[in-house]
Parts: sequence; C-alpha cells; structure tokens
Amino acid sequence: MADSRFFWGDKNTMAQSEFYSASNVKEASELLSRFGERANVLAGGTDLMVEVNQRRTPLKTVVFIGRAGLDYIECGEGTLRIGATTTHTDIAASSIVQENAPLLAEAVRSIGSPAIRNMGTIGGNVANASPGADGSASLLALGARVKLISVRGERVVDLEQFFVDIGKTVLAPDELLTEVIVPVQGETTRWTWHKLGQRKASVCAVISLAASLDLEGSTCRSVRIALGTVAPTPFLARRAGELLEGKPLTPSLVEEAARAASEALPDRDGLRATAWYRRRICEVLIKRFLSLDVFPA
Ligand SMILES: Cc1cc2nc3c(=O)[nH]c(=O)nc-3n(C[C@H](O)[C@H](O)[C@H](O)COP(=O)(O)OP(=O)(O)OC[C@H]3O[C@@H](n4cnc5c(N)ncnc54)[C@H](O)[C@@H]3O)c2cc1C
Repeated sequence: MADSRFFWGDKNTMAQSEFYSASNVKEASELLSRFGERANVLAGGTDLMVEVNQRRTPLKTVVFIGRAGLDYIECGEGTLRIGATTTHTDIAASSIVQENAPLLAEAVRSIGSPAIRNMGTIGGNVANASPGADGSASLLALGARVKLISVRGERVVDLEQFFVDIGKTVLAPDELLTEVIVPVQGETTRWTWHKLGQRKASVCAVISLAASLDLEGSTCRSVRIALGTVAPTPFLARRAGELLEGKPLTPSLVEEAARAASEALPDRDGLRATAWYRRRICEVLIKRFLSLDVFPA
C-alpha cells in the first residue's frame, strides 16, 4: 500500500492531504474503514478533481483505487460484470459489451471527450450520482445492480435503490462500489440511447433517454425507460413501463405511455433547460422510440 503526503491549495489555504494507493479491494476497504468520512475515493478523478479545483470538496485522505484490480469485463450466465475502475474507453471498445449490452456501449461512447473517456470510470460515473450521468441512465434502463464492499461484508443493490439525491447515494462512507452487474440484452431486445445537448461533441445532456424493451411479436415485455438530467437522480419512468407491459404497441398506447412519462417528471427547471422543455422533449423521444422505426438494426 503506497502512502505519501502531499499539499493541496494555494499558499494561504494550503491543506495537507494523505495519498494511499490500494493494491486490492481488501486494502481499499481497510483504508475506508480506518478513515471513514475523511476519505476521498479517487478513481479517474474527472469528477472529483473538478470538485476539488473549484473548492467544493476538500481533499482529505485520498484512497486511489485505480490499481486495486477492478478493471475487468466478464460475461457469463446471462450477466455482464464490469469492474468499477473500467474506463469508458474500454467499455465502448469491448466486443463483449457491444454484443451483450450495446445500449451501455453506445451511452459511454457519448461521454465527454476521448481524454475524459480514457480517465473516467463506470464506477465513478455511478458513485458520483449526477442526474445527468450517461452511464447511470443506461445502466438504469438495463436493470443493472451494483456490488458494494466494506470490511463489514458485501451487498448487491439495484441501481433503482442506489441513488438518493443529487450527489447522494446509499453508499456508506466505508463502502466501495466494486462492480456493476448488468443483465445481458436479449436478441429480441429493442433499445435506444439518445442524448440531446447544445452541441455535438463533449456535450452535457439537456436530456437523455435510455430505453429497452423485449418484443414478443408486437407485445411489450420488460419495458424500462430511463431519463437523465430531468430529476435529482437518474429517473426511471415506471408508470410508462407499467402501461406498456404485456400489451401490443398501438398508436394510442404509445401516446399514453409517452404522456405518462413526461407528466411524471418533476417540475424542476435546470441550468440547461426548463421543466416545460424537458417534458416536451421527453414525450417526443419516447414516441420515437416506441414507434419502432428508430430502433437500431
Ligand atoms: C470535461 C468533462 C466532461 C464530462 N462529460 C461527461 C459526459 O458527457 N457524461 C457523463 O456522464 N459524465 C461526464 N463527465 C463526468 C465524469 O467524467 C464521469 O462521471 C466519470 O465517469 C467519473 O469517473 P471517475 O473515475 O473520473 O470518477 P472520480 O472523479 O474519481 O470519482 C467521482 C466520485 O465518485 C467517487 N467514487 C469513484 N469511484 C468510486 C468507487 N468505485 N466506489 C465508491 N466511490 C467512488 C469519488 O470519491 C468521487 O466522489 C465529464 C467530466 C468532465 C471533466
């Protein structure tokens, strides 16, 4: 376990921090158990260091997990297991992910720029709990779960139950998110990823839609429609899913489901769009998705 001290801040506000590099999950868990709320987990640093540089988060005791053996993608028994420090670049380029969870591959491909995707990790994207996190929205649509480990043991939590508020999750201060567990998309699964922003590259979403459903003939099964940047947490449009479940797609049902999703959005104006605009776009995107002609081949 490497340990060094370093200084952070300008000369008037200089703070002393400690840096630990965990070489496995056990070491990382022990450090988090020891330092608790004083610890900052550092993965790629693309969210954390922005917070630190903007003086919104003080660096205390840094626990770096980039060499803790959490960089892997495995597939078996209908499930994809992706280690928390796997970068967006590696996920997007992985043939395993492209074949088994193309929605996730497509979503992480749209994150930031190549430099951000090279550093940013899937665990950091989820643990940071931004309502606009592209990885989180796509994982929510796929019905993913996350594995959380501490010295007290491990637990697996549905992503739906993981997010609490902007920047807040059920992660305890001594817990590490070690893995995302993603059900494999079936051959009959129809899906979409749509990120609407104010420009085409390195874009923060005004709204994003991640949706997935299985079609038995024309009957909808396992419908999951997730939206990013519309609520304090990544948002699952449950009512729309319930309306569609087990029914054949008809124009009136498509209208009803899209309207139900848009009406369920919180009345919350954001930095990049008003609630009114997001509701309109939400309805349009869902109608397009359910109209089938926009499904990827
Ligand atoms: C210029 C720029 C553009 C961006 N564009 C996008 C974008 O288009 N879409 C998007 O979704 N995001 C975007 N981001 C945000 C960021 O790149 C991603 O959220 C990234 O996935 C964060 O991962 P990280 O490894 O860098 O996390 P870090 O910055 O290392 O950590 C983020 C937070 O999560 C905690 N944490 C990290 N890993 C774990 C873990 N395994 N267990 C427990 N806690 C953990 C850290 O303590 C910290 O609080 C952008 C950021 C920048 C700077």
